[in-house]
Amino acid sequence: MPGEFDLIDWIRSQHKPSDFVPVPQGDDLAVLKWDAADLLLVGVDQVLDGVHFDSAVHSPRLIGRKVMNRNLSDCAAMACLPAAAVATVALPRGVGIDYAKELYRGLRDAADPFDCRLVGGDTASWDGRLACTVTVLGRSAGVAPIQRGGAKPGDGIYVTGPLGGSILGRHLTFAPRVHLARELARTRLVTAMLDLSDGLSRDLRHICSQSGVGATIDADAVPIHADALELSRQDGRDPLLHALHDGEDHELLFTASADPDVRGVVRVGTITADAGIWLLRGGVREPLSAEGWQHTL
Ligand SMILES: [Mg+2]
Repeated sequence: MPGEFDLIDWIRSQHKPSDFVPVPQGDDLAVLKWDAADLLLVGVDQVLDGVHFDSAVHSPRLIGRKVMNRNLSDCAAMACLPAAAVATVALPRGVGIDYAKELYRGLRDAADPFDCRLVGGDTASWDGRLACTVTVLGRSAGVAPIQRGGAKPGDGIYVTGPLGGSILGRHLTFAPRVHLARELARTRLVTAMLDLSDGLSRDLRHICSQSGVGATIDADAVPIHADALELSRQDGRDPLLHALHDGEDHELLFTASADPDVRGVVRVGTITADAGIWLLRGGVREPLSAEGWQHTL
């Protein structure tokens, strides 16, 4: 891209050397001084114009923040600490260096509060739409990673906040629950966990299938976000359905052998030995279908 080297120079100028990143940026690879006691957890996530955001509406700074936060939320899902990240950006030809800088600032807006260092990346221009990918490196830092496959019959099912309606804007601005996940993991009561990206009804299936269990969700217990209420005023759909099926809440969904007694955590159901995922509503048990999450940007 025109000005690509200006951009790279500018990004390098934003970087502060540290014990953790001992080699200044500008080499072929980033060098990290990794604590030998830490497990390394690696994940990658991309956002695409027209799928995860709309570049005609959303600012590059918010787009950068979203893609980084999606990765940080995966760190929360496994109760690790985000330590470092690398990013690639495919820029539409002609958007200019200031647009790219704003994307970078958005990545840093999300990463800096967690001391997650952006240690490398790649940019290119093309005739397509904006695409941005972040790879995150997490460290276990004394907490065993929480997996999806550990739920047992009788465990409670919990969420860390109200759900639904994130499409009204929260999908760009949510706060990844990294510290809450660590607090939960330290109770040693959590048996399975993930972050809600595709919606409760869908993501619960991952825990159930990987744990070989079923689940019953209590409709009255599901916390409904104000955004879900607002969305239901707009589209006439039951707010509970938004809370159950909307995507990109990025709250944590977890199971625990006893109530972890952590602030903000709400019990929404129980793990069962029989396969099958049920919704208990008004004393009636009905199958909880996994309605596909549709991006409606
Ligand atoms: Mg996830």
